[in-house]
Amino acid sequence: MLDVQESTPCWVDVDLDAVGNNIASVKKFLHSGDVRLMAVVKSNAYGHGLLPVARTAMTRGADALGVTHPNEGIALREEGIDAPVLIFRPLLPGEEEDIVRFGLTASVSTVEQAELLSAAAQKFGLRTPVHLKIETGMGRTGFLPETLKAMANRLFSLPGLEWEGIYTHFASAAIDSSFTRRQFQNFCGIVQDFAIKGIEFPLRHVCNSAAALLYPEMHLDMVRAGTLIYGQLPAGVTSPALDLEDTWSFWTRVIHLQKARSGATIGYGRTHRVRRDTVIAVLPVGYRDGFGLDVQRRPAGLLDLGKVIAKIILGYLGHPVGSPYVSINGTLAPVVGRIGMELSCIDVGNIPDIKVGTPVLVQVRRTVVKDSVPCLYRCQVPSHSNSGPEMQT
Ligand SMILES: *Cc1c(COP(=O)(O)O)cnc(C)c1O
Repeated sequence: MLDVQESTPCWVDVDLDAVGNNIASVKKFLHSGDVRLMAVVKSNAYGHGLLPVARTAMTRGADALGVTHPNEGIALREEGIDAPVLIFRPLLPGEEEDIVRFGLTASVSTVEQAELLSAAAQKFGLRTPVHLKIETGMGRTGFLPETLKAMANRLFSLPGLEWEGIYTHFASAAIDSSFTRRQFQNFCGIVQDFAIKGIEFPLRHVCNSAAALLYPEMHLDMVRAGTLIYGQLPAGVTSPALDLEDTWSFWTRVIHLQKARSGATIGYGRTHRVRRDTVIAVLPVGYRDGFGLDVQRRPAGLLDLGKVIAKIILGYLGHPVGSPYVSINGTLAPVVGRIGMELSCIDVGNIPDIKVGTPVLVQVRRTVVKDSVPCLYRCQVPSHSNSGPEMQT
């Protein structure tokens, strides 16, 4: 592990080489060189840092970037990144001028949005690329097929718009294959109807990470991958055709060691009772940092319910099951008691050489980590001006 100041209580370690290798692997998996890869860098690149990841993505084979909000696209442009950037969410009236000025690509879900973009493009004397968003089952954004039919003439007669792409988004690609196939068929039907009328879209795209892995026949012209490039398989997808590397880890330090006697309880609600004399290490992380945020699944059946009850009983007897573990000096230590807002406890009674300041690897929800947590970027392959480890806040 690389050096971080001893007084830094929490930090994120981002392995940009791993991100780059994952991007190269996904790109290779799309073997036919004609399938483009859009690296999805929304939500601060899933907590990895928008700009370093965007630069890495573009040097390791991505063809375009995808974000949710216009301000993320503008941030990319202001740092000199000139790759195509698709904005996923619908625009608010007033946002279209920035889209045009910064050369971003809007997703169009209504005629009104298209009209405002067209007006902005004309004002600046430019043609602005747009992607037509189709609603096929996600139920959030995009034209319903019947609305699209009625509006098509108006849409495609608007000046200043370049209809570069058409896409839809899957609601349950990892789990529900019949629904995903239905979404895909509806999408293809619409694309075909347009083709018959002589309207072609150079970039047709539907796949997120799960669909890209499970349905190669749906790759079309481009896939939009987030999860995979950050080294994870989509939940519910088990057969990895890819060799993915871990990209992200969250570290904290022991800030206090506390002896606890057999029979003492730890934390709010007194949910954990100590069974033998031990040592508790206190960590400066809590649910505010995304620690212990993983949602408890609703029991899916009687067997599941039985497991939940067994866990509660074992927990009551002082054997926490399924409670989070952290890694300290290469050993797993259980989190004991409820995770607090900003402090948590682990039992280190059996682990030697624990001191105040010892680093601890913890599992936290990546996308909720605060921007104020410093990020240590590691890269050997120089993809941009900085090479080697670098600490940024
Ligand atoms: C987030 C997002 C993706 C990427 O999803 P992953 O499952 O992380 O690959 C693709 N397309 C759209 C429209 C998205 O919002």
